[in-house]
Amino acid sequence: MRSYQELADRWVRGSGGSLNDVDPADPDHVMARVRLSTKEDARAAVEAARSKSAGWGGIPPPRRGGILMKAGELMESAAEELSELLTYEEGKTLPESRAEVARTCALFKFYGAIAYKFGGVALPSSDPNTRIFTAKVPLGVVAVITPWNFPASIPAWKLAPALAAGNAVVFKPATKTPLTGAKMLEALEKAGLPPGVLNMVVGRGGEVGDTIVAHEAVRAVSLTGSTAVGAHVGKVLASKDEMTRMQLELGGKNALVVDSDADLALAADLAVRGAFGLTGQSCTATSRLIVLEKAAGGLKERLLERLKAWKAGPGTQPGVNMGPVVDPDQYRKDLDYIESGKSEGGKLIHGGGATPPGLLIEPTVFDAISPGMRIFDEEVFGPVLSLTEAATFDEALELVNSVGYGHTAGIVSNDNRRINQFIDGAQAGVVKVNKPTVGLELQAPFGGLKKSGAGTWKEMGEGALEFYSTEKTVYLGY
Ligand code: NAD
Repeated sequence: MRSYQELADRWVRGSGGSLNDVDPADPDHVMARVRLSTKEDARAAVEAARSKSAGWGGIPPPRRGGILMKAGELMESAAEELSELLTYEEGKTLPESRAEVARTCALFKFYGAIAYKFGGVALPSSDPNTRIFTAKVPLGVVAVITPWNFPASIPAWKLAPALAAGNAVVFKPATKTPLTGAKMLEALEKAGLPPGVLNMVVGRGGEVGDTIVAHEAVRAVSLTGSTAVGAHVGKVLASKDEMTRMQLELGGKNALVVDSDADLALAADLAVRGAFGLTGQSCTATSRLIVLEKAAGGLKERLLERLKAWKAGPGTQPGVNMGPVVDPDQYRKDLDYIESGKSEGGKLIHGGGATPPGLLIEPTVFDAISPGMRIFDEEVFGPVLSLTEAATFDEALELVNSVGYGHTAGIVSNDNRRINQFIDGAQAGVVKVNKPTVGLELQAPFGGLKKSGAGTWKEMGEGALEFYSTEKTVYLGY
C-alpha cells in the first residue's frame, strides 16, 4: 500500500485537526494523515499572497509564462506518479487519471505560452499627437476553490491563467483530494515559482473557504463546486465592502437526446461513456437519456448489451472501466438516489447494487423516469442514468430544458434540421452533436447556464485570462 505521508507533511500541515486521506477502492489503505488549516491559517495564506502579489505581478509576463511551461513539463515527466496518486486518492481508473494528468500538463503549457502575449491593444486616436493603448494588469490576490472530482485539471485550468496574468493565489482544494494538489505545487515550486505566490489551504469549506472568500484582500474568487455552495459564496461576496469578481461553475443534470433516426450503436456507446465514465462523477456526465419513442426499444437493447462488458473495480486494476465513488458520503448519497428512483416509480433495468469492500456501485439504469422524480430533477453525481421517452422532438427538447441546470446537452441524430433546432434551443453552455456530453477541449471556452454557473466569465480558452486581469487605458500625448 502506497504511503504519501511525506508529501502530506510537506504541503498539508495546517494547525487544525487532522483526517485520514483514504483510498476509496480499499478502506484499509490510508494514504496519509493530513493536517487541516484553521481560519487563522487561511488568513495567513491570504496575507502571504498579498505580500508577494506586487513582486509576481511585476515579473514580465513571458518570464512568468516560462515558469508555468516548465511546471507543465515537470508534471509530464512525473505523469505516471501523479496519475497513480490521483487514482488512489479520487478513485477514477488509471487511464482516466492519465488523461486528466495529460490535460493538466497541457493547461500549464498552454497558459504559459499565452502569457508571452499577455498585453494590451493599440488604438487610433482622433488627435494626431496622441497614442491610445491598453495595458493588461493582474488583479492582485485571487482565490481558487476547487472540487474533488478533477483534482488536477480543474485547479490547473484556474491556477495557470491566474498565475499567467500575474496574480498571487490562495488555493483551496477539496479536503477529499489534497494530495493531488500538493503534487502539482511541488512541480510549480521546482519550476521556479517564488514562495508565497501560490498558497494552498486545506480545510473545511465553511471555515477556511468562507474566511478566504470574505477577506478584503481577495479581489476575485473562482469556485467550481455544487450549486448550493456557489450560491452561498455569491451571497458572501455580495456582502463585502470591496467589489470582488466571481466566477462560479456549478452542478449539472445533463441530457443526451437520442433521435428517432439515430445510429443506436453510437447512441448506446455515448450514453455509457457519458453516464458511467469517471463513475458518473463529472459535472458534464450524462445523467438523463431522452429517447424518441421509435428508437427506445433498440436503444435499451444496445445499452444493456454494452453494459454487460462494463466492469467496475479498483481504478488501478487493468481492464476496469469504472472505479469506486469518492468517499462514504457520496456512496450513501448515490444509494439514496437509487432508492428514491425505485420508490418514486422508476423501473430499474440495470445495476442498482453496491459491491463492497471498496466504494463500488454498479452502473445503474432506470427506465420510465419523468419530471418531478428526484433522479430526473436533481444532480446525483454518481453512476446513475435515468431514461425518459418522448413522443416528439419538441417534447424531447422541452424535457432537456425542464431542469434548473444548464451545463451540457447532447443529441445523437442524423437529421440536419433537428440538429440545428437542438443547437439553437438547448439551454446549455456546451452543446454536443453525436459526441458524449462529457469531454472538453482546453482551447475552447467552458461554462454553464442557469443554475450551472454564475454566467460571468467563461473558463478555459484564451479568454480565461480575462477573469484574472483588468485593463488600463493610456492616452499618451506628445
Ligand atoms: P462542494 O460544493 O461541496 O465543494 C467545492 C469546493 O468548495 C470545495 O473545495 C469545498 O471545500 C469548498 N467549499 C465548501 N463550502 C464552502 C464555503 N462556505 N466557502 C467557500 N468554499 C466552500 O462540491 P464538491 O462535492 O467538491 O464537488 C462536486 C460538485 O462540483 C458537483 O455539484 C459538481 O457538479 C460540481 N462540479 C462542477 C464543475 C463545473 O465545471 N461546473 C466541475 C466539476 C464539479
